[in-house]
Amino acid sequence: MKEIHRNQEHTGSYYAASVNEVTDYPVLEGAESVDVCVVGAGFTGVSTALALAERGYSVALVEANRIGWGASGRNGGQIINGISGLEKIRKKHGEGVANMIQDLRWRGNDIIRERVAKYDIQCDLKDGFLEVAPKPKQVSYFEEYARDREAHNTGHQYEIWDREKTCAMLGTNAFHGGFVCYRDGHLHPLNLCIGEARAAHGLGVQIFEQSPVTGIDHGTRPRVNTARGYVEADSVVLAGNAYSQFEPKHLSNLVFPAGSYIIGTEPLPEEMTDQINPLDLAVCDVNEVVEYFRLSADKRLLFGGACNYSGRDPASIKSYILPRMQKVYPQLKDVRIDYEWGGKIGIVLRRIPTVGRINNNVYYCQGYSGHGVCATHVMGEVMADAVTGTMERYDLFADMQHFRIPGTEWVGNQIIALGMLYYKMKDRF
Ligand SMILES: Cc1cc2nc3c(=O)[nH]c(=O)nc-3n(C[C@H](O)[C@H](O)[C@H](O)COP(=O)(O)OP(=O)(O)OC[C@H]3O[C@@H](n4cnc5c(N)ncnc54)[C@H](O)[C@@H]3O)c2cc1C
Repeated sequence: MKEIHRNQEHTGSYYAASVNEVTDYPVLEGAESVDVCVVGAGFTGVSTALALAERGYSVALVEANRIGWGASGRNGGQIINGISGLEKIRKKHGEGVANMIQDLRWRGNDIIRERVAKYDIQCDLKDGFLEVAPKPKQVSYFEEYARDREAHNTGHQYEIWDREKTCAMLGTNAFHGGFVCYRDGHLHPLNLCIGEARAAHGLGVQIFEQSPVTGIDHGTRPRVNTARGYVEADSVVLAGNAYSQFEPKHLSNLVFPAGSYIIGTEPLPEEMTDQINPLDLAVCDVNEVVEYFRLSADKRLLFGGACNYSGRDPASIKSYILPRMQKVYPQLKDVRIDYEWGGKIGIVLRRIPTVGRINNNVYYCQGYSGHGVCATHVMGEVMADAVTGTMERYDLFADMQHFRIPGTEWVGNQIIALGMLYYKMKDRF
């Protein structure tokens, strides 16, 4: 992925058009010296910076574009547990490690709710996420989910819906059943990210926008360089995820960028929203290559999915996504589409974020495989722990072995495209 996104304003998303605050933090100029420098102001970076500021550390947060410019400001807004692959972890690393990760899986939801309340962040936060089965045999997953919730005593409020109830509650017969979890939910992700950055700034974090980091001089106090300035710090956290092109020797081949796309309709009348989603839930199917949708606060249907692994965006996102939306909701065939946009997700083959450090004091954390709203908040806390010397949870993730495909900078997306073709076929048959 050689495409370079730098110094850009937000993409033309519904979120960018409905922000509470247009951020305008200064460009990094001259020399700064802090305890921790965080590179990239998506959820991973902002969350890490805020967690550190809450603990009294001095922090600089350096962003190439604007706060939330990457996946964090463009996503489906679905807050769902984002760390999977637990069965494999159990087999490879044992019951203890799997249970510790199990305990962390929903921690991000709590962090988000705590911050929204503590810092009064207006981001349309709603409870309730419905996972739906496009195929009859997928309905059996929901009994497994329930067993998992009970076995781990999560205390989640959940319901299993049969086909009849799912069809009635979603106004479509596209699905054979559903699993609702009220611990999960949805929100306006860009407003959350900007609100968390504002909170961090209020606690003293120095934020620099429009300041692409060009390189790092490693050492006991690494120097993070931009065109017009630099930050020296005891530790650095790299949080550029799928948009990062740093430290290729260490980080390339670990996270594979893939495109995901969303369209936003015009605001729908109440009789329509009562028909298609009266409980105002976030909805996502259980396929490997997912489709997801929900209503915005002003009652637009935001419908997304269809990952693209070629590294090239479709010529028309609307033409790409609209037929999928109309397959689920033929009754929306005449609605106007006001927004279409996409972003890059960082895919990790094991579906566990990749975490590590270079030269002992430059940390990285990336790769949420399209489920990062919750997981980035978990990992922000884990990264803040690590740079301040509490390594237990960091070591859990850093010890996971990740699959690297050599030479991915040239052929990676083609290999993923083949892999995803396998998953698409699996979903189909
Ligand atoms: C269309 C779409 C829909 C999605 N839907 C969902 C969903 O519904 N639920 C869910 O849980 N997850 C979803 N995801 C995934 C989720 O958005 C991501 O996992 C999460 O936002 C990743 O956050 P991040 O901070 O790690 O990366 P990003 O948000 O991508 O942030 C990285 C930041 O680093 C900056 N950066 C990169 N290089 C440099 C540099 N050299 N110097 C300075 N800054 C740099 C970038 O400009 C960017 O702002 C979706 C993703 C997409 C694209």
